[in-house]
Amino acid sequence: MTQTAPAESTEADGDQTRFASLDPRTGEVVGHHPVHTAADVEAAVARARTAGEEWAALGFDGRRARLDAWRKLLVRRLDEFQALISNETGKSADDARTELALVVDHLHWAGKHASRVLGKRRVSPGMLMYNHAASVEYKPLGVVGVIGPWNYPAFTPLGSIAYALAAGNAVVFKPSEYTPGVGEFLARTFAEASPEHADLFQVVTGFGETGAALCRAGVDKVAFTGSTPTGKRVMAACSETLTPVLVECGGKDALIVADDADVKAAAAAAVWGGIFNSGQTCAGVERVYVAEAVADEFIELVTRQASKLRPGGEPNAPFGPITMPRQVEVIQAHVRDALDRGGRAVVGGLDSIRPPYVAPIVLVDVPEESTAVTEETFGPTLVITRVPDADEGVRLANALRYGLGGSVFSRGRGEELARKLRCGMVSVNAVLAFAAIPGLPFGGVGDSGFGRIHGDDGLREFTTPQSVTRLRFRALLNPMTYDRGSRTVRHVVRLTRLLYGR
Ligand code: NDP
Repeated sequence: MTQTAPAESTEADGDQTRFASLDPRTGEVVGHHPVHTAADVEAAVARARTAGEEWAALGFDGRRARLDAWRKLLVRRLDEFQALISNETGKSADDARTELALVVDHLHWAGKHASRVLGKRRVSPGMLMYNHAASVEYKPLGVVGVIGPWNYPAFTPLGSIAYALAAGNAVVFKPSEYTPGVGEFLARTFAEASPEHADLFQVVTGFGETGAALCRAGVDKVAFTGSTPTGKRVMAACSETLTPVLVECGGKDALIVADDADVKAAAAAAVWGGIFNSGQTCAGVERVYVAEAVADEFIELVTRQASKLRPGGEPNAPFGPITMPRQVEVIQAHVRDALDRGGRAVVGGLDSIRPPYVAPIVLVDVPEESTAVTEETFGPTLVITRVPDADEGVRLANALRYGLGGSVFSRGRGEELARKLRCGMVSVNAVLAFAAIPGLPFGGVGDSGFGRIHGDDGLREFTTPQSVTRLRFRALLNPMTYDRGSRTVRHVVRLTRLLYGR
């Protein structure tokens, strides 16, 4: 989103070579970090490339052992890691701990399953090539550049980093300017767990320019997670060198409540899905479409629960501040637009916005044209819209260009409605369950991006398939030589007709 250093993190002494990360709760400096130049980034990629050759040669078991050692180290230092995440993002201790539990689970899964998904496997040679053995294996790309956001500064980039490393690649990671310390912690602990591969996973810090330099540094793929406008810039930069790119962008996820839903469960899920981590979740609940038959009960339950929640800076607060100061203006603009167009706030309102904190805001009767419905708000807000039935909810959910995730609450039609949603992931009778299942691919469609992290697809995303055939014996009929007689081709055509023409 940013091309230049935000005022809140530039050095007070005007030093352009380093920047400070700040605690959004207090404005205090958490740490200082270098602004890496294009030359620094290129040097990091070159070091990673050399280290990557040894890493690739380790094979699946050798890599798994080292990834397991890293995972165990992260678990041992979980409290320190949690505190660092809370300090740089402001998120509550429990939101940070939940993030770390997911990190560890994914790291474990990627290491464990890489061999099954990517290892050499035999493929049937088919009719014409019956005398050949055929196999495919998925080989590492080389160096993967990872560019990550601040809202889940460990979980989100690890969705690429863990899978890229397990697949045999080296990684150069550019964390958000708001969470450089979390990025450095990841690289430092990896090097501690695997000192002989210290250059394999490197971190470069700085602003948007450092990220742009990574796109142009000769990496073999860029895995970007962030906003849609930045995703487009990353793609444009990568196109200069035909560097492949994975783009995980924002969303405006909808929760559909059908008339046969467990309304109590749906309301609790909507409140948590919309408000945890201060609503700063790419696949969090931003819109709710509730069937008219249960709408009154649902809105009353949401109102009651959301009114009780208050953000705060203390570790046990239900949720923390807005991490990125200028996001407050976006939240304010969306809420104002909704109210100006005739929407009503049943919880909070414009005066809930007291930077850096935003208390829950629940809006109803908001026209679908409002920016509160069409654009990513990224705050603890919910827009609840009454619909005649769940099918109309699905239609409205699908009306935006975003298509990341979604959720459906229904006792009888959950999976049927899920399949009608135009998005990459859906939870039925829950929210965000898909993100916590490492075996499931994660990613969106439309303005939410393309490509997949997590699961088998997430491992393959950081590889290139190589197909190999081996002649086992000479065939009686070989049409792929000038020694073939016309009889041979006639026989092949006859066989083709016999097998496939009926
Ligand atoms: P941004 O798009 O602002 O930034 C993402 C990353 O890109 C940051 O590291 C940023 O660096 C870097 N960057 C900025 N400009 C450039 C550039 N020109 N070239 C290369 N890199 C650049 O997103 P946020 O950090 O604000 O993250 C929030 C967004 O991320 C939301 O839209 C959210 O929905 C999305 N997201 C998507 C997820 C998914 O899986 N689909 C998961 C989590 C978040 P710097 O910070 O230094 O500017």
